[in-house]
Amino acid sequence: MSEASVKSRITTDIDFDREGRQASYLRAPLSRNTSGWGTIEIPIVVVKNGSGPTVLLTGGIHGDEYEGQISISRLAASLDPADVSGRVIMMPAVNIPAVMADKRLSPIDDRDLNRCFPGNPRGTFSEMLAHFMDGVVLPHADISVDVHTAGHSFDSALSTNMHYLPDEAMRGRTMAAAGAFGAPYNVVFWGVDEGATFTSCVERRGILSLGTELGGWGRVNVEGVRIAERGLRNVLRHAGVLAGEPETAQRDGSAATRHMMVRHQDSFSFAPTAGVFEPRHMVGDAVEAGETAGFIHFVEDVDRPPIELRYKRSGLIWMSAGPGRAARGDCVAVVMTDYAEPTDSD
Ligand SMILES: [Zn+2]
Repeated sequence: MSEASVKSRITTDIDFDREGRQASYLRAPLSRNTSGWGTIEIPIVVVKNGSGPTVLLTGGIHGDEYEGQISISRLAASLDPADVSGRVIMMPAVNIPAVMADKRLSPIDDRDLNRCFPGNPRGTFSEMLAHFMDGVVLPHADISVDVHTAGHSFDSALSTNMHYLPDEAMRGRTMAAAGAFGAPYNVVFWGVDEGATFTSCVERRGILSLGTELGGWGRVNVEGVRIAERGLRNVLRHAGVLAGEPETAQRDGSAATRHMMVRHQDSFSFAPTAGVFEPRHMVGDAVEAGETAGFIHFVEDVDRPPIELRYKRSGLIWMSAGPGRAARGDCVAVVMTDYAEPTDSD
């Protein structure tokens, strides 16, 4: 018996097939010292009207990423069922324990929810929640938009992202949806530690999967919120759930999203040792291979020179270091390049 076929311990009074608007909670059991039968309530709003595709919008899978929490909450409060053809499932704060603690990891089990998929109904709190998302919520969805930012790890160039999908038709559909979302960039990437992510579950079920990186550095990115709100409505228009055409005009005057990729390991710069990292560029900046990426400083030692880091690849900065103090092995910069289909010589 697969884990997904085991009954979840999480319950909800939401009826995914009911017409109209429902605003309620998932109720996840959490036994604690002061409440043996205690539960954690996870907000969910479902708007359904007639027939049409189902779009699942998720935010707060990491608690310290705010743009999805804000934009999906606002959409959930304002979406009129009469305007909808199909169904929109909105979960602005999936990992509510982490959201309320303002942390990437869950304070309940110290796990990264986005490394717990496909989960386990009898596992830790995060594993139980991952199992519910995969086994109960995802089967309803045709399109999934999972709104992330770079949290405290990085700042990010405002972007959607997707895996490089071997299936050409699905890759084309996903790139079209990313173009409709209308962020300044869409980054196609070859995954980092991807087997246990939500995205991997979405893809395994044949559902169109879009992610985002719309800010970071532990703050609310003003432009990231604007792009998120526009992007969510744009995807609903693209899917035919809302009427109208996506608005994709960019602030720099270009008409549409620029498709980029992060494919090669030399796109990543890692701190060779611990110290204070001084980056030399902001997200979106153009950089050259061999150019100075930044310096690791050892302010605790007099006269010890800083270590200079250099980019190994030319492109634009997708991710720029977050915390000033880097640990050995921390990623401190990611360079993206213009998207190109792989060739046999790659
Ligand atoms: Zn995240």
